[in-house]
Amino acid sequence: MQNIRFFNNMRSTTRHFAVIGLGRFGRATSETLRKMGYQVLGTDIDESLVAQALDDKIVDNAIQLDSTKPNALRAAGIFEVDTVIVAIGKYVEESIITTLNVKEAGGTFVAAKASSEIHGKLLKRVGADLVVFPEYDAGCELAYRITKPAILERFDLDPESSIVEIRVPEEFSGKTIEELQLRNRYGLNVLAIGDAKRFKINPEPQERLCKNSCMVVIGSNRDIQRLPI
Ligand code: ATP
Repeated sequence: MQNIRFFNNMRSTTRHFAVIGLGRFGRATSETLRKMGYQVLGTDIDESLVAQALDDKIVDNAIQLDSTKPNALRAAGIFEVDTVIVAIGKYVEESIITTLNVKEAGGTFVAAKASSEIHGKLLKRVGADLVVFPEYDAGCELAYRITKPAILERFDLDPESSIVEIRVPEEFSGKTIEELQLRNRYGLNVLAIGDAKRFKINPEPQERLCKNSCMVVIGSNRDIQRLPI
C-alpha cells in the first residue's frame, strides 16, 4: 500500500541508500532499490547475512557492523548517504538507537520499520522521517484483496480516501460514464479508463466502458466499497 506522504517526504535526487538490517524486509528493500538502479549499501550485525547479500547481489556493497555504535556507522560512510533505511523490527532498542545515531549525525533522511504502534511512536520521537508498518499494511492489503479482488491497485491519499484501479464491473459494461452517473450515485470521479497497455486520462462523459477494461477512480473508501465489484 502506498501513501502520498512518502513521496512528499522523499527527495527526488536521492541516489545512495543504506539499508541497516538485512532480514527479510531489509533484503527486499535493498533488492528493489538496486533493481531500480540506485546504489545500495547494506549492513547487518550478522556477518553471514552480509555475505549472503553480497552473494545474492542485492547490494552494491555490504559491511558487517553494530549500528548502535555511532563510530561504526561513521566509518562505514552511512552518514554520507542520502537515505538510510532502518530495517530492524524485533530489536526495538537497537532500532531506536540506530535511528537516533543517524539523525544526530546530520540531515540524512531516515525511513524506519516499526513492529508495533509504540515502536512507531518512539521512532518518530527520535527523528525518523518516515515510519512504515509492513505487517499492518500487508494485513490491510490482504483484507482488500480477498474481499475485493476486482481492485487491482490502490493508492491511499489519506486514511479515508484513495485512488483505485478496478476491473470494470459487469453491470457497468456497455454504459457510458454519463449514463452511470458515478459522481451522483457513488460520489466517485473517473480519472482514467483503459486496459493493461494504455489508459485514457480524463475520459469524456460519453466514453463507453467495456467488460475487460479497467477504470481508475478517486473517492472516499466508503464510496469505493459501495461499487458493485
Ligand atoms: P525481518 O525483516 O526478517 O522481518 P525483523 O523485522 O524481525 O526481520 P529483526 O530480526 O529485528 O527484524 O532485524 C533485522 C536484521 O537486523 C537482522 O538480520 C539483525 O541481525 C539485524 N540487526 C539487529 N540488530 C542490529 C544492530 N545493532 N546492528 C546491525 N544490524 C542489526
